[in-house]
Amino acid sequence: MKILVINAGSSSLKYQLIDMEHEEVLAKGGCERIGIAGGKLIHKAHGKTFEILHEMPTHTDAISLVLKELVDEEAGVIHSMDEIDAVGHRVVASGEAFKKTTLVDDEVMVLMDEIAELAPLHNPAAILGVNACRAVMPGKKMALVFDTSFHATMPDYAHLYAIDYEDYKKYKVRRYGAHGTSHKYVSGEAARYLGRNPEDLKIITCHLGNGSSISAVKGGKCIDTSMGFTPLAGVPMGTRSGDIDVAAIDFLCRKKGMTMEEGLTYLNKKCGVLGVSGVSSDFRDLAAAKEAGNDRARLALDMFAYSCKKYVGAYMAALGGLDVIVFTAGIGENTPDVRAAVVEGLEAFGIAIDKEKNNYKNDGAIHDVSAEGSKVRILVIPTNEELVIARETAALL
Ligand code: AMP
Repeated sequence: MKILVINAGSSSLKYQLIDMEHEEVLAKGGCERIGIAGGKLIHKAHGKTFEILHEMPTHTDAISLVLKELVDEEAGVIHSMDEIDAVGHRVVASGEAFKKTTLVDDEVMVLMDEIAELAPLHNPAAILGVNACRAVMPGKKMALVFDTSFHATMPDYAHLYAIDYEDYKKYKVRRYGAHGTSHKYVSGEAARYLGRNPEDLKIITCHLGNGSSISAVKGGKCIDTSMGFTPLAGVPMGTRSGDIDVAAIDFLCRKKGMTMEEGLTYLNKKCGVLGVSGVSSDFRDLAAAKEAGNDRARLALDMFAYSCKKYVGAYMAALGGLDVIVFTAGIGENTPDVRAAVVEGLEAFGIAIDKEKNNYKNDGAIHDVSAEGSKVRILVIPTNEELVIARETAALL
């Protein structure tokens, strides 16, 4: 079975064609500048990279171009579109409308339109991607795989905000979380790597990338996560503030003459480690700046690690113990200093990292970086969200 995984953004579209028999990526790539002059498709297959410069006024044009490459004589990996058994689409927010992976039909797409405002930066793009695929591949089975699904198991006392309960019922304002496919993948991989039954494990998964979230996973199910109604909540991120007193936002808006909408753009794009450091949202730049003596870069890194550590502590309490901490995503997989800082001082809780093991150079493999005698295993596991989307899609068929 071959599954095409699509991750559509407002002006971009990433894809992977995965053969599920050996879970092998046959081809992958991405379209850039959809709807903007200067469209480009980067396609990787047969160990080669193909760069195609072509205007893509719409997502439908982008998908058509991708399919053309997939069946191309030189760059292609299949003979015809019929070889694609189904398409799995990544969707950021499901609200309470969808609890699990769902097969696309007209009714489902009406519901998708209704919940689009829950993730105004992401969901409309996913809808464009689905509609484009339906136009170019009519009749092909398609699944919506939601970032939020893995978090649907959070108990009510963990996912509700302490607002008027009637307002929650009416407007569905609550914690939904994000990065669910990643948390699901790495928690499952942790159990597999340790040769343990997921049912028996208490795991904290730290997805630390440009967007970061931390989840508590008990018996294979998510019981809490740091992101909230939107991906703005939780730990500070590249450009997002993370948790902040809402009254401070109102105060800032009044002081800076911003509307609420502008205030949210500010919190999403100009804050986080970028805002604190004034240097960059990229942790590599921050590390270099700190090394060169920039104290605000040091502060941004310290704030990030401290916030992550507080979530680890909170989730140990929520889980009633801890067996494994997993680090994943761009920062989690590549930055030993951040991993060390997050767990520093937690030895009293049975969490000890091995400095030398932790300083390995990322080779794409799973690494156990716990110190000998550490009761809690500390694992670094490369995430693979596309594979989860493909697996979910295949399972649905
Ligand atoms: P992601 O959103 O998962 O792609 O992660 C992006 C973040 O990971 C950025 O802040 C990068 O600084 C960081 N990152 C990615 N690759 C590396 C690397 N090789 N070394 C250090 N940080 C990295």
